[in-house]
Amino acid sequence: MAVQAEPSTATRTVRRPPAAAPTLVEADLCVVGAGIAGVAAALTAARLGRRVVLADSLPTLGGQAVNSVIGLFAGLFSNGFDGYQLTRGIADDILRDLDAQGALHWRRGPPHKVVLYDEIALARWIEEAVRNAGITVLLGAVMREVDVEGQGRIREIRFAHRCGDVRVRAQGFVDASGDAALCWQAGFACREFGDGPIYGTQMVVLEHVNEAALPTREELAAHQHAMAPRYGMLRRDGFAFPFVGRGIALVNMTHIETPLEPLAFSATSLEGRHHADKAVAFLKGEYPDAFGRARIRTYGQPGIRQTRWIVGRQQLTVQQVRDGTRFDDAIARTAWPIELHSHAEGYIWQPFPPEHMHYVPFGALVPAEAENVVAAGRCIDGDAAALSSVRVMGPGMAMGIAAAHALDLAGAGSVQQIDTAALVARVRDNVEGEGPRYA
Ligand SMILES: Cc1cc2nc3c(=O)[nH]c(=O)nc-3n(C[C@H](O)[C@H](O)[C@H](O)COP(=O)(O)OP(=O)(O)OC[C@H]3O[C@@H](n4cnc5c(N)ncnc54)[C@H](O)[C@@H]3O)c2cc1C
Repeated sequence: MAVQAEPSTATRTVRRPPAAAPTLVEADLCVVGAGIAGVAAALTAARLGRRVVLADSLPTLGGQAVNSVIGLFAGLFSNGFDGYQLTRGIADDILRDLDAQGALHWRRGPPHKVVLYDEIALARWIEEAVRNAGITVLLGAVMREVDVEGQGRIREIRFAHRCGDVRVRAQGFVDASGDAALCWQAGFACREFGDGPIYGTQMVVLEHVNEAALPTREELAAHQHAMAPRYGMLRRDGFAFPFVGRGIALVNMTHIETPLEPLAFSATSLEGRHHADKAVAFLKGEYPDAFGRARIRTYGQPGIRQTRWIVGRQQLTVQQVRDGTRFDDAIARTAWPIELHSHAEGYIWQPFPPEHMHYVPFGALVPAEAENVVAAGRCIDGDAAALSSVRVMGPGMAMGIAAAHALDLAGAGSVQQIDTAALVARVRDNVEGEGPRYA
């Protein structure tokens, strides 16, 4: 109801104080990066009773899972038509709550079972879960400096925020930045791919898609392969996944470079949208029955796969992935293929047989030079091919959960010296047993 009053004309004059002190926040754990791995770490730590700060340079939570509109949980189920769930914890809660809202769509194998999600529902789930857990969020904050003392112990991170500077002091830190930004800023050794770019993708969501007329994934890929040059498309083997019943399709058909240099990084989103428009022109031009009325509902933030990652005290190798090596300190598992986007026109895709499983050792999450930092998500240590098979969201959540438990066990001590058996016992459900199948 409208308020019946004269509008106030009051103003006051203000000026920035000459020495505006940064805001200081103290916590048990500071998680840098609010993607799926960082959110898993923050929620797990909060459930362990820890005071948590969750920081991200974006103004929103959810990282790429939400903002790049990835739209599909991969690596979360074992292979086969009706695989079982491999990562539990927050994955259970997300699937239960989104399923209840009708915000999931299952795609069953062979070879994989994956689940599409409504990114808006996931965003709101994360926001409410973080709010209810009492986690302090610091959004739109970019790391400026990292204080390291002694033998690789981070003491404090200084962030720049549009409203002023913020210092976060904590006992433990999780690098869930995807680009190993915390370890890089701290001066710890990092890795990059030594053989050219690993391509990212500009995702788009199309609406008003006629699902009944959609080509199969194989047909679409073969036709893109043939027609890509005519439409000026760099990549020649993408796909468009329908969210059945909603007239929506997730389009993953571009390859874009995602360099970690500020100006080139910034140009990426313009370049990506340009390429995405070409992909949509191809879909409309070649499949008018399916896509003739389609419109782009959303362009995601540029999707970044592999850029820079930590030098861990152990590196996961592609041979260990292929062998399904079961490490004593395994904290995550997946059956996802090797999926290395190292070629502009396509990507290396090597799926595994139904019974295959591979594991992530805790050693690959621990920066070799750090005392109180654990990495989680797409910036843990692996060779490029091994990393490509574990950087998806199913194992990403398991890594976040493990990172929180490891730093909880470390307390004020060193994460290099925790009782690994105790850690493994805490995360046993993520490496053993069969989770739900969602019939
Ligand atoms: C196009 C594309 C398609 C994919 N498809 C699938 C799929 O279908 N299914 C699947 O499971 N996985 C898929 N993946 C992989 C998966 O999406 C990602 O690997 C996963 O989401 C990574 O999660 P993360 O939490 O490790 O990192 P991110 O989601 O990248 O989160 C990292 C966060 O850290 C923040 N950050 C970075 N630097 C700083 C800094 N200096 N200061 C503060 N904050 C910082 C970022 O803003 C970001 O929010 C895909 C990836 C891409 C790019």
